[in-house]
Amino acid sequence: DKESRAAEFYSHFTSENLHEIYSDGRRMLTFKYERKFSDDIIRWVRNEVNFITDVDSGHLCIMLSAKDINSIKQEEQRLLEGAQLDSMTKLLNHETSMERINKILYVENDKQHALFMLDIDNFKSLNDTLGHQAGDKFLIDFANELKNRFRETDIVGRIGGDEFFALMKNIFDRGQIERRAMDILEIIEKTAQQFPEVKLGGSIGISLYPKDGTNLDVLYTKADEALYESKRNGKNQYKFAE
Ligand code: GH3
Ligand code: MG
Repeated sequence: DKESRAAEFYSHFTSENLHEIYSDGRRMLTFKYERKFSDDIIRWVRNEVNFITDVDSGHLCIMLSAKDINSIKQEEQRLLEGAQLDSMTKLLNHETSMERINKILYVENDKQHALFMLDIDNFKSLNDTLGHQAGDKFLIDFANELKNRFRETDIVGRIGGDEFFALMKNIFDRGQIERRAMDILEIIEKTAQQFPEVKLGGSIGISLYPKDGTNLDVLYTKADEALYESKRNGKNQYKFAE
């Protein structure tokens, strides 16, 4: 398969190269890659190249084996995701979101970003009226919609309970942020339509990098205060940090 990443690996397999590797004292090479099989199914394989000297002739030989490691890789992936994602909504968990946002503020410190904090209004009434399962369904449906509204490179996470946060990257004007905030309120309303018995809404607080602060702790506190202002001011609205 000339397209495969392995083709590059094997293209170096000339006698001279192999002799050089052997002379350096190495006796094994390994290479893991995703291999496309003839039925078009892609699976992870681990290739192992062992150097062996033929005792009779003294010739240097290589023995190549390929092992299917797909299930191991899938398990690795599952563990990795499990440690980074909120198990219910599959959004990034609090800790991972904080790490990623910190990294963005560090690497892309010459741009403007907006931090959104969000808490669902009257969420307890949904649990109380229709049960915890209905509450969970709302959170999962809402999280999916929320993720769709942000770009792939933005960060969307669940803080816990009915609280979420998001970093909207590389913003140019306030209008963009306001439109996104309205979007969020709209998806809360849309997601809540399946539970007409209760009246849900969303309160949002927004802080801006670098205007309101240059480190995440400050931005977080300011967005949280703005969120609290939205609650105090009657809920189902957004407020910018003072
Ligand atoms: P407010 O309008 O002031 O935000 O009040 P609220 O009713 O939304 O309640 P609050 O934000 O203070 O608390 C959130 C509630 O969400 C508390 C808890 O009972 C419930 N909750 C937390 N995590 C989960 C969850 O994973 N699933 C469900 N179904 N409920 C949760
Ligand atoms: Mg709430």
